Amino acid sequence: MELKAKNIITPGELVSLDDYPPGYTGVYEKKGQTKKRLKKLHKQLRELQRLLYAESKHALLIILQGMDTCGKDGTIRDVMKGVNVQGCDVVSFKVPTADELSRDFLWRAHKAVPSKGKISIFNRSHYGDVLVVRVHNLVPEHVWTQRYQQINDFERMLVENGTVVLKFYLHISKDEQKERLESRINDPTKHWKVQASDIRERGYWADYMRAYEVMLQKCSTDWAPWHIIPANKKWYRNLVITECIVEALKKLDMQYPEPAIDVTELTIAD
Ligand code: AMP
Ligand code: MG
Repeated sequence: MELKAKNIITPGELVSLDDYPPGYTGVYEKKGQTKKRLKKLHKQLRELQRLLYAESKHALLIILQGMDTCGKDGTIRDVMKGVNVQGCDVVSFKVPTADELSRDFLWRAHKAVPSKGKISIFNRSHYGDVLVVRVHNLVPEHVWTQRYQQINDFERMLVENGTVVLKFYLHISKDEQKERLESRINDPTKHWKVQASDIRERGYWADYMRAYEVMLQKCSTDWAPWHIIPANKKWYRNLVITECIVEALKKLDMQYPEPAIDVTELTIAD
């Protein structure tokens, strides 16, 4: 898949999101062409998760960020299909509570990181603290400007302690968001998903794109690089993210642990 190399941001790289077409689908033209490959990847993911759980030396943290309707919920549903829920937590980051605001901004993220053997998916994350917070100046500039480095240090500590950190920015176009919001408004079963804030935040599109570009430049590190995922086409988004997760887990070269006892000596009584 030729996009793979390009969609990982090298540390410090200046990112102009206009250079990344949200409708990009690589060598594929339609969903049907990816089904077989995705099925195989899902099977590999299930096997790798079992190994992650059995070995319990590493943890996997998956971070999903993007504009409203970019497909964070859909990614969680589709990519993790078949993953054993016992080994996986999904954590949604909303407007911080008074309790959360009374602590450092990384506190709620750190509380939610996966334990060894497990996967945590962050639906939004500590990156909100350099995105929505930056766009709306929810804290003074000198506070949020420090956060890029603080995030990098936090993630490095996680990685050095055995957690793989995979970060996906789900890139949709402004037109695609319009269509998705309209389809929610036109479908009574999707009304619950529409928030006034979705429409309001859309008005800050350019400011958000700038905030994402800075985030991608400053927080793509050797230990936890950002991936830009073309996300207008849900099937391509699912394929690329699943592939990234499978590749990252394969690299860990995990082994089933040696049994603590010689199981061949065991006999099972009738
Ligand atoms: P949703 O994920 O669409 O249910 O909405 C969650 C809302 O929480 C979004 O509007 C985010 O902008 C907001 N949010 C997430 N993190 C923060 C943060 N650190 N500060 C302020 N608002 C946030
Ligand atoms: Mg929303």
